[in-house]
Amino acid sequence: MHKIDIDLVEMTMDVMKYVIDRLSSTQNKIGKPKKEAELKALVGETITNKGIGGEQAFKLWKKHLTESNVPIDHPRHLAFVPASPTRAAVMFDLVTSASSIHGAYWMEGAGGIFCENEAMKWIVSLTGLPKGAFGVFTSGGTAANLSAIVTAREYWRSLNDQNKVEKGLVITSIGAHSSIKAMAKVADVDILLVDTEDVMHANALQETIDGLTAHQRQRLFAIVGTGGTTNAGIIDDLEGIASICEKENLWFHVDAAYGGGALAADSVRHLFKGIEKADSITIDPHKWMFSPYDCGAVIYKDPELAKNAHSQQGSYLDIFKDEGAHGFNPTDYQIQLTRRVRGLPLWFSLATHGTDRYKEAVERGIELAQIAGRLIEEHPKVELVRAPSLSCVLYRRVGWEPEDYTHWTYENHKKGFALVTPTKWKNGDVFETVSRFCFINPDTTQGDIEAILDSMV
Ligand SMILES: *Cc1c(COP(=O)(O)O)cnc(C)c1O
Repeated sequence: MHKIDIDLVEMTMDVMKYVIDRLSSTQNKIGKPKKEAELKALVGETITNKGIGGEQAFKLWKKHLTESNVPIDHPRHLAFVPASPTRAAVMFDLVTSASSIHGAYWMEGAGGIFCENEAMKWIVSLTGLPKGAFGVFTSGGTAANLSAIVTAREYWRSLNDQNKVEKGLVITSIGAHSSIKAMAKVADVDILLVDTEDVMHANALQETIDGLTAHQRQRLFAIVGTGGTTNAGIIDDLEGIASICEKENLWFHVDAAYGGGALAADSVRHLFKGIEKADSITIDPHKWMFSPYDCGAVIYKDPELAKNAHSQQGSYLDIFKDEGAHGFNPTDYQIQLTRRVRGLPLWFSLATHGTDRYKEAVERGIELAQIAGRLIEEHPKVELVRAPSLSCVLYRRVGWEPEDYTHWTYENHKKGFALVTPTKWKNGDVFETVSRFCFINPDTTQGDIEAILDSMV
């Protein structure tokens, strides 16, 4: 026993040292995946009858495995939607794990859930939703979107008997995130796409609704607008869509998984006008609110409707319900039962830094996109595809074919210099391959952007 205890203390120190080193280093690598067979050859068998020991396993992690990840917080990682969790949040992610909190019911997780709810109040306040609106933290935007779609559909089904036997229908635009389409499948509802990757305007939506057959119109129960498309940072005409939803009696969901952080930024807040009329909203703190993975959020204007859809019944759960009735039970408002109190790291970070620092850090991402836009306009070899929106910038290298972008991305990644990936932009009827920046990390510099542009020789 004694020996094990000493080993465990040493292991804890080693792990803490690793974490502190990673968090304080400015020299973290971009990283690059290896093939599974290569990794296997490097580390050999790790799961054995007797175990290989923590020291050895940790050595293998540090020597071979960690290098084969592509950490999303590198300042020149501008692909996909990067991330930049604060140190405070990461440290409290460790505390969250060490505290073994079951985050489904107040009865077991009161302290953790209290903190989550404090952070949630701030997020809800950014949306401008009316009093009574509230939300819960989910594993991400996908789970948040699913929770919202199911809530909307169950509400619609409760309205009349005919709806109970119909397959629901949702309208969104082709700029919507893939998870909307994927979760419509999970919820077994049909989806119709307004044909624009740019702003979904109210008139285009109205035309689509007016073009439905009577049966389709009866099946239509929700509209999904996007508050910052993942590809280009475009915000739909939320105000116009909200009016249509009100007039047509439709659920209005806003997917702001990526863009939601920008609600904190005074410079762009007006672009989200209308979001305060949503029935539900998705925001990912693990994208632009500097939380570690994974942390999404779903917010409802009327949380009772979510409870009607998601509250789980089971005889062994009754005890939790009795006790938990005195508090807030996060499981009731989204698809998951047992859950990590994944909003806890965000709470600690917000409490540590204050919301002004969050505002500044988000504004910096927007500013970086504006700086990149200017640099692109001044650069002889590149041009903007459209004006930067939120923290996304789409631009083309004049004269490049799709393979040139792929090759360039690959070379920069191989050198460990940067990760900037191409995307497609719908230009009329053709999909053009272009380059894309998405800024989240406030430590990215103008010099980083210049160096990346100059590498497009
Ligand atoms: C990233 C994203 C999602 C999916 O969120 P996950 O956290 O990856 O599940 C959904 N919608 C939008 C707009 C996104 O940017």
